[in-house]
Amino acid sequence: MNPEEKSKMLNDLVENALDFLANALEEIKEGEAKYSILHFYAAVELFIKARLMMEHWSLIITKGDEPDWDKFVTGDFRSVSLDDAANRLKKVVRDGLLDEEMKAFKNVARHRNKFAHFFHADHQRNDSDSMSSIVGEQLKAWYFLHRILTTRWKDEFAFWNGEIAELNRKLMQLREFLRAKYDALQPKIREMNSRGVIFTGCPSCGFEAQENDSSEKVIYESTCLVCNLTEKKLHIACPSCGETVSFAGDGFSACRSCGKDFEPPDVADVICDSDSEYIAITDGGRLPRGNCSDCEVYEYTVVPEGDEWVCAGCFERFESLDTCGWCNELNTGDLEMSSVFGCSHCPGSNAWNKDN
Ligand SMILES: [Zn+2]
Ligand SMILES: [Zn+2]
Ligand SMILES: [Zn+2]
Ligand SMILES: [Zn+2]
Repeated sequence: MNPEEKSKMLNDLVENALDFLANALEEIKEGEAKYSILHFYAAVELFIKARLMMEHWSLIITKGDEPDWDKFVTGDFRSVSLDDAANRLKKVVRDGLLDEEMKAFKNVARHRNKFAHFFHADHQRNDSDSMSSIVGEQLKAWYFLHRILTTRWKDEFAFWNGEIAELNRKLMQLREFLRAKYDALQPKIREMNSRGVIFTGCPSCGFEAQENDSSEKVIYESTCLVCNLTEKKLHIACPSCGETVSFAGDGFSACRSCGKDFEPPDVADVICDSDSEYIAITDGGRLPRGNCSDCEVYEYTVVPEGDEWVCAGCFERFESLDTCGWCNELNTGDLEMSSVFGCSHCPGSNAWNKDN
């Protein structure tokens, strides 16, 4: 296979994805909800396939089909489903999708499947209710896709950065389709406000409709009343200046008052109850911290919270942690074979024996 041919195919794939998204936007504006749903979903799949293709072209081909380059270049193959693509991203590329991302993409897929295979009763009517539900799903899916393309997959998609930014600017026009819903929610928002609920701007739909919990050091789910985006959030008092610092989705943020940067280990220090840590140490117990196999990057980000554990890196919650049979550290992952294969933070005896 020649590399030029491969990079041309990849470029075609991404350009197609960008095109489909631009079409999906125009179709919403024209009241063509049906085509918008089909094109929007096609774009989501193409971006994910492009990421797989960057790893190896054969990863796009469905299970059971023999990978054949000649057939591949002519488009004569069956490609992976969204589920299989996500699975390969996780297991082969080691760069998987988060649960919340997959959920948003599957919601779009659900609409799309109804259209492709059945008569989709809800959206035959182009009324404002069904339009706002479609727009809400699309904005959420784009919020996550855009976040992936500009953070975790930033380097892989750097070549299309300009086009992605331009498209993002255009897709934000979709927010106007949700204004009627936001206006209708005003009495409810005012009433909740008077009971002390704080609303902040939703990163997906842009309206001040994201419901917040004001307690500190607790990771909670914040939901937007307009588009239903759910994000894990956390507020802490800045250890340097005392100002409230907020986190959304992960343990990275900065204090708006003094500029202090926070990374997951700092967040673990703040949310871990120092009293219980002190008791565990003086009791002869171990420092109650674990490693996270979901986000992997930092050590000891998993800290106790009540009867459960939370990760200060990815904000996931765990009922219990097991101990790795090789390094003896607590870990969130499946540790059944850990004495041989290790955990997310150690290589296990297998690798150790090889090295020796
Ligand atoms: Zn929203
Ligand atoms: Zn500060
Ligand atoms: Zn984590
Ligand atoms: Zn280990």
